[in-house]
Amino acid sequence: MKKVYLETFGCQMNVSDSERVATSLASRGFEITPNEELADIFLLNTCSVREKAEHKLYARVGRIRNSGREKPVIGIMGCVAQLEGETLFKKISGVDFVIGTKAVGRVKEAIDRVLDGDRDVADLGERERNYDWSVSDAQRNSPYVAFVPIIEGCNKFCTYCIVPFSRGREVSLPASEIIRQVLELRRQSVKEVHLIGQNVNSYRPPSGSEPSAVAGGLTQSIDNSGLEKFRGATPFSKLLRAVAATGIERIKFNTSFPRDFHADIVDAINENENLCNWVHLPVQSGSNRILKTMRRGHTIESYLKKIDNLKASKREISLTTDIIVGFPGETVEDFEETVKVVEYCGYDAAYIFKYSPRPGTPAFKMADDVTAEEKTERFQRLETVQRNSQNKALRRYLNKTLEVLAEKPSSRVAEQLSGHSTCHKVVNFQGSAAMLGKIVNVKISEIKANSLYGEVAGIQ
Ligand code: SF4
Repeated sequence: MKKVYLETFGCQMNVSDSERVATSLASRGFEITPNEELADIFLLNTCSVREKAEHKLYARVGRIRNSGREKPVIGIMGCVAQLEGETLFKKISGVDFVIGTKAVGRVKEAIDRVLDGDRDVADLGERERNYDWSVSDAQRNSPYVAFVPIIEGCNKFCTYCIVPFSRGREVSLPASEIIRQVLELRRQSVKEVHLIGQNVNSYRPPSGSEPSAVAGGLTQSIDNSGLEKFRGATPFSKLLRAVAATGIERIKFNTSFPRDFHADIVDAINENENLCNWVHLPVQSGSNRILKTMRRGHTIESYLKKIDNLKASKREISLTTDIIVGFPGETVEDFEETVKVVEYCGYDAAYIFKYSPRPGTPAFKMADDVTAEEKTERFQRLETVQRNSQNKALRRYLNKTLEVLAEKPSSRVAEQLSGHSTCHKVVNFQGSAAMLGKIVNVKISEIKANSLYGEVAGIQ
């Protein structure tokens, strides 16, 4: 049996694709190995959102090629594969096959062709109509947490971003398929599902498969939940209610697009305990001028209105964000606007990036006029502002009891477990293997930079 070593870079969508590729290969005669020394086939699932992804890929393939053993089959999938296509065969010596972002259901066919002696095999075609979106429990990264894609691609074309080109236009999955998957995951004892998509709340199901139109015995409970009374609500908030009605213990969703983040999403969270109290809402900049150049589709005023609404929720919703510093044309004044937004919002976490031009995006043609030193300075300053604001914000958890899903033994300390709270904070606590997969009440006794620590106060 040929052994496949699968390595994933980038976002949750890539992680999710890899899980389904592993499931498909394992069911079709391959063994997925965590040990690269034993691998006959390397499959690298790549990300192109940041600069140098391609250089990292060259280096990684070079290391595999020069590892002193007989050269394994090497395949590239993900966004770099989609964007570069067959040119990768010329750019990186040793690559045997390339699989585009929509062709992940045909990895086995590509491997078979290479094993049969074909060279430079590329499949950048469309997704097959009967593509299987399910993931077996054996191939998921966690037995207790599962990613469920509900929409792929992006129609927004922010000027700095390559995703609309690498992932194509937005396509939403039928609500019936999503509900079927969540019910199946619940049957497999999964405790937490993450509904994922580049812009999860832009969900627009194909007509006839709206959450309230899902038919059959599977969804009786959903019909009973009274979805009809939410006629006029956004499809995403209806979907959230439908998924909540499956009774799965916890539901998180990521990433939200600010322009499409409507008040009915907060209403759904307020009304359903199993919709978790965490929202990731990327602001990217605090300056309206820069937001316009980024073509983000929101103003800072409209964004802050949504933040105020989230803060007014009775659920105490944890907020996180993404920010780019040093975008073309960003002045000191623009940057100071971003600092103000960070101070105002009190994010539990912010992922701050220095702008780097991505070939193929509209911003690539703009003058990258903020110097590297200025970008570093702004990055460090914003990090300090965020750290101070975060320290203050996280203190609200001190002495509180949080519900934590015990996911795995801590990598650092023996007899310590690690998991996420409903507000998506990493929480570490003393615990035994018997607690894994359970929701544990943890009383928080210590706030660390990126995690919380506490003592078990009970198991649910
Ligand atoms: S919304 Fe903008 S940043 Fe997000 S994936 Fe689409 S283009 Fe990229």
